[in-house]
Amino acid sequence: MKNLYLPLLVLAFLLAACGGDPAPVTPTENNDAQAASETTDADHGHEEEDEDHEHDQAEDNHSATDGLNIDHFFDGALAETPEIVDCTLSDGTATSCYSITVVGYPVNHDVGPFCPTTTAATADDVGIWLDGEAIYDVDGAFILSLAEIYGDDNWQLYDDDGNVNVTESVEAFEAAARPDVDPAYQNHCVEGRMEWLPDGNPVPTTALIPVAPVSADNAQSAGNLGITLNGVVIANAAPVDAILSAYTIAAFDDCGGHINPIDGYHLHGARGCSEVGDAAEGETPIFAYAMDGYAIHSPLPTDEALDDCGGHTTDALGYHYHASPAAENAVLPCLTGFTVSTGNAEGRGGDGNRPEGDNAGGRGGRPDFAAAAEALGVTEDALVDALGGPPPNFEAAAETLGVSIEDLQAAMGGGPGGGRQQGGGGGG
Ligand SMILES: [Zn+2]
Ligand SMILES: [Zn+2]
Repeated sequence: MKNLYLPLLVLAFLLAACGGDPAPVTPTENNDAQAASETTDADHGHEEEDEDHEHDQAEDNHSATDGLNIDHFFDGALAETPEIVDCTLSDGTATSCYSITVVGYPVNHDVGPFCPTTTAATADDVGIWLDGEAIYDVDGAFILSLAEIYGDDNWQLYDDDGNVNVTESVEAFEAAARPDVDPAYQNHCVEGRMEWLPDGNPVPTTALIPVAPVSADNAQSAGNLGITLNGVVIANAAPVDAILSAYTIAAFDDCGGHINPIDGYHLHGARGCSEVGDAAEGETPIFAYAMDGYAIHSPLPTDEALDDCGGHTTDALGYHYHASPAAENAVLPCLTGFTVSTGNAEGRGGDGNRPEGDNAGGRGGRPDFAAAAEALGVTEDALVDALGGPPPNFEAAAETLGVSIEDLQAAMGGGPGGGRQQGGGGGG
């Protein structure tokens, strides 16, 4: 029984992540094998695919290029064959959508590295940091320069021996990802590991993406932005201000992705790691699809005229987006088309890696701990302490507080959840 409630409650408790779905709707049975092979199948079949995709793009007519083309995905990027299902867009339009599940890890490259272990680390040893304005290698020089870069002497991510503070256990990682960052984990480089995810598996995400994109009047930007051709969710912008204000660096790998406890591996910057096919003159290759069904291509090298959401229309490709430069820490500023309204959207839009960022963004589904505590007849501190986590342990908390788990769940605002799917703008 409680299992039905937990995904929603955990979700709410964490104040939201990058809009991804914390509850794999259709976990694959072979995730272990996938995870195990994840570091060994780099570049698998890429060259061959390039040729196939080039062929596809050259021959596709407008209708195909305007919408999602399953053939563009890397082998293994989708957990199962996509189905076409009925869906309702956020404007109320009843239409058809692909129900498409990405496996939750990049099938064509390794995950990481992220943080440096010492101040002697070179760019080859580490990942990157994207603060909205610049791309930094998270190397030793960067760690040593943080106080200068951000004009604040409180930055000190290393000790006298040159060791860098890194979240080196799942407990440390989750404590650093708490809404109220455990003060012990300020001045840390925060990184997760795939093996710290639930059951040690990648987190698949099922997206409902309109088969025929419908252009909207009002741009949307809540929730996940899209899915990459190599099996990864594209999250909304990471909450850089919140991350920096806790004196933490939520490092990305060189491909612009990182891990959070709920969404698993997800992308924040377009770094060319899932491109498919060649690009026409003046264009860049496709690497993803947005939740509204339009293709996302790599950033354009020049200041080309694009609309507010980074899109434009060409004869060859129809309407499509170009990702923002990775430094901006937002693959797209918004979506042009309607996305699927999931009905149980919670408007998540921050970063699961930094749940407090969602707090800062004011979009979170943060439980009202004060109200819940009052309903239960306990203090708010006692409630928060008892819940622990993330993830919170409701069973243990109920026992600690001397209340029934049903009462606890009711007080926390949980309801029957069941399977959830990630639409687009609705979050989920
Ligand atoms: Zn273009
Ligand atoms: Zn993130």
